[in-house]
Amino acid sequence: CGIVGYVGHRRALDVVVEALRRMEYRGYDSAGIAVLDGAGGLAVERKAGRLVNLEAELAEIGEDRFDGTAGMGHTRWATHGRPTDRNAHPHRDASGRIAVVHNGIIENFAPLRAELEAAGVELESDTDTEVAVHLVARAYAEGPTAGDFVESARSVLRRLEGAFTLVFVHADHPGTIIAARRSTPLVVGVGDGEMFIASDVAAFIEFTRNAVELGQDQVVVITKDSYEVTDFDGNTDVPTQPFTIDWD
Ligand code: GLU
Repeated sequence: CGIVGYVGHRRALDVVVEALRRMEYRGYDSAGIAVLDGAGGLAVERKAGRLVNLEAELAEIGEDRFDGTAGMGHTRWATHGRPTDRNAHPHRDASGRIAVVHNGIIENFAPLRAELEAAGVELESDTDTEVAVHLVARAYAEGPTAGDFVESARSVLRRLEGAFTLVFVHADHPGTIIAARRSTPLVVGVGDGEMFIASDVAAFIEFTRNAVELGQDQVVVITKDSYEVTDFDGNTDVPTQPFTIDWD
């Protein structure tokens, strides 16, 4: 399984699919992609099976909607919910404007799911993952973090138990990607006018050798020109590990 995110000047679809291919060796049962088109749209496609199935699907529906320079990709190794198209990531909120991908397990998904259902939210998949995107949508819609995508995401991360690399995108914030980790890998790739996040440097090695490894319980917010690392509370004074990738 693997995760990649990209914000920059290249066609995100190409970068993301290539990155997923470079992480195929990690094993997976489904693949998916989300692209922010920069005009307020969010295009999502996901498919059970090999990456070629997703590529065939994209070719069939037409790649026009996926013309954007920011996006994320996911390969899934199912833990909760069978490996079907419906359970494949990305998962979206009811508006379809916020999306999440996830590797790992959200241990306390059941009470969170019950809380959402009690509030009238309809969940579409059998995954532990989907609760995260609905919780972010609710935090963004109302309460102390309303209108603040990053604070909304952090407030949800603080509620999650388990092991996870999570990535969130929001159509209202097409130049920003939020990624977080607990007990699973997450690396930032720092390019020139482009930024990557991934579970494995193999995802972006052809584009940059400058990387930053995130520590436990950290969040990174990337734009094409910047990355900011904090803990789940938003503190910026956190240890990170910059390094240069020196293998071929
Ligand atoms: N637990 C999530 C699921 O089953 C993510 C699995 C993964 O690591 O790919 O959908």
